[in-house]
Amino acid sequence: MSSGEDLHGIFIDVEVDEAVATDPELAAKLAEVCPVDIFAAADGRLAIVRENLDECVLCNLCVEAAPAGTVRIVKLYE
Ligand code: SF4
Repeated sequence: MSSGEDLHGIFIDVEVDEAVATDPELAAKLAEVCPVDIFAAADGRLAIVRENLDECVLCNLCVEAAPAGTVRIVKLYE
């Protein structure tokens, strides 16, 4: 493994539709609901805090906070 390789998000990835990521209200809502701060809202836009990705507890609060199908939690393991 080469040094400097990105080891974050090896177990979980979060996919957010662009329409949600650029909606200031939804971005703020997602930042608020996630208990482990995977989402941050900056300048009215959603940012995914990659170093927190593997803290995801699969609570589904983000999925429920956004319109159906626009936020997806992807398990990168079996
Ligand atoms: S499932 Fe829960 S812990 Fe995981 S990203 Fe969504 S709100 Fe955060």
